[in-house]
Amino acid sequence: MFALADCNNFYASCERIFRPELRSRPVLVLSNNDGCVVARSNEVKQLGIANGTPHWQIKELIAKHKIVVFSSNYQLYGDMSARVMDLLGQQCADLEVYSIDEAFMRFDFYRQTQQKLEQEGKRIKGFVEQCTGIPISIGFAPTKTLAKLANHISKKVTATGVHIIYDPFEQEDLMKRIDVSEVWGIGSAYKRKLSDYGIETVWQLLQCREQWFYKEFTIQGLRLLKELKGIPCMDLEDSPTSRQNMVVSRAFRRDVYALEELREAFANFATRLGEKLRRYRQITSSLSVFLLVNPYNNKSPDGRRYFSQFIQLPIASSNTPELINAAWKALSLCFSSGRNYKKCGIMAYGLQPEDVVQLSLFEEPEQHLKTRKLMAITDKINARFGNGTVGCAAALISKDNKWQRLEQFRSPRYTTSWLELLRIK
Ligand SMILES: [Mg+2]
Repeated sequence: MFALADCNNFYASCERIFRPELRSRPVLVLSNNDGCVVARSNEVKQLGIANGTPHWQIKELIAKHKIVVFSSNYQLYGDMSARVMDLLGQQCADLEVYSIDEAFMRFDFYRQTQQKLEQEGKRIKGFVEQCTGIPISIGFAPTKTLAKLANHISKKVTATGVHIIYDPFEQEDLMKRIDVSEVWGIGSAYKRKLSDYGIETVWQLLQCREQWFYKEFTIQGLRLLKELKGIPCMDLEDSPTSRQNMVVSRAFRRDVYALEELREAFANFATRLGEKLRRYRQITSSLSVFLLVNPYNNKSPDGRRYFSQFIQLPIASSNTPELINAAWKALSLCFSSGRNYKKCGIMAYGLQPEDVVQLSLFEEPEQHLKTRKLMAITDKINARFGNGTVGCAAALISKDNKWQRLEQFRSPRYTTSWLELLRIK
């Protein structure tokens, strides 16, 4: 039996934990640089404000309905996510963290009665909510696709917080009410094609013959259909440590022209990248930096928009100073003055576990290993005293920099910064 646990309105819920007076008020969270809406409380959803709506477009609505607006506070969300995942991991050893606010679990109890399963779901839900204050919903089903659907039902249709699908054919009424686009893996192109055949609801989809479906929608479609009928075709994926690439990027709040500012930005990206790599016990053998010119006001002399440079590291590494040096080297190779850069980032390729490092014949490994120890200590200090307590001077953020993101409405980083702890007056 699979389960999908999903946090309700995750970012908005995180904001409410430390501001309980907001529980009955509409809350929304804006994307990077306060651009557009990325998360909404139920009250905001009811007002008809869609995700992706630009902030400036809804300023009147915000004032009229006294909506509380936040800039995204990824340190808070990331930390709360880690807490939720940790608690779920205590409940179930087989856990796949699927996104910042979703995790699949696999339980062995196959022939549990509906009632027992419901009790178990409610218990886990209550446990996570009591420990973190984050409301979650749980869907149980024999396949991942159905678990995701069960979760959707528990949230949007029955609103009970826990829903179980043993056999979708037994829940005809519900399946007739759900649009095919709610099925995991069905995007807009898929939906259109299904619509051409008159298939609009999950119930209609369930009636499809597998052979016909395979012919029309290939093997992937068939897998989806089987999963939907309750035949497992997907297992839990490995933890995110098995990922191949890692990216740290950011859109700037204003166009950036100066190399000095970009160097500062890239020193920060490389610092983040190093932290991320070390957290997952991985190293990278190569990275690339990329720079994007503002598309709405392209001042690039040759009109080009995208610039990138690949660079191979002498020794695969997760050490921040080595990553900064490599990023700067790559940056100097693709930077050209006169361009108005709007977004930049750094990408690490070909990640590998940190314990299989291949040392170079031409480089002295001592310094590399020494730095690695230094990094471990740096991470410990930052974990204890807050992010950025110690780091490379190159990554120090100068005042009035243009590249850092705009965060007019960011809440305090309650759980990760000593200076921003909740104060009770
Ligand atoms: Mg969610």
